Amino acid sequence: MRYHNITKDDMLNGDGLRTVLWVAGCSHGCKNCHNPITWDICGGIPFDDAAREELFAELSQPYISGVTMSGGDPLHMANRDEIGALIKEIHETFPDKNIWIYTGYLWEEVKDLPFMPLADVLVDGPFIEEQKDTALHWKGSANQRVIDVKRSLAEGRVVLHA
Ligand code: SF4
Repeated sequence: MRYHNITKDDMLNGDGLRTVLWVAGCSHGCKNCHNPITWDICGGIPFDDAAREELFAELSQPYISGVTMSGGDPLHMANRDEIGALIKEIHETFPDKNIWIYTGYLWEEVKDLPFMPLADVLVDGPFIEEQKDTALHWKGSANQRVIDVKRSLAEGRVVLHA
């Protein structure tokens, strides 16, 4: 897996102060994507031990609410194994930190991934220019959903994050 950046003390990509991992690779090709530099699965730099240590050091700060996996698409087919292993390790190391995932896939396409029960919020769906609304919370276009993962899995239907 490759990545572009680790953002620290981020307030724009989920609840509270967060650490954001910007993963390389996205195949959705949304018109007027905010971050096309992240589309190339071979772009960015390797997510190596040093990057992992940087991420975990940030997450160890008591004022950090959790981690957000964004990109690019952390659920790009080529990223799924490694992002799943990383999410599992973060959950085991920091059980009190919440995990948000941004993806261009729909909930229905990714809800059965084995690591999904470890996530707390999934922001799903492609960015659709015609439905763009800058007033929306945590998402760029009205079609996207900010989904409460645990409640959605438990109830077998999409429950939105309050
Ligand atoms: S899913 Fe996100 S990163 Fe991928 S093309 Fe769409 S807006 Fe860009």
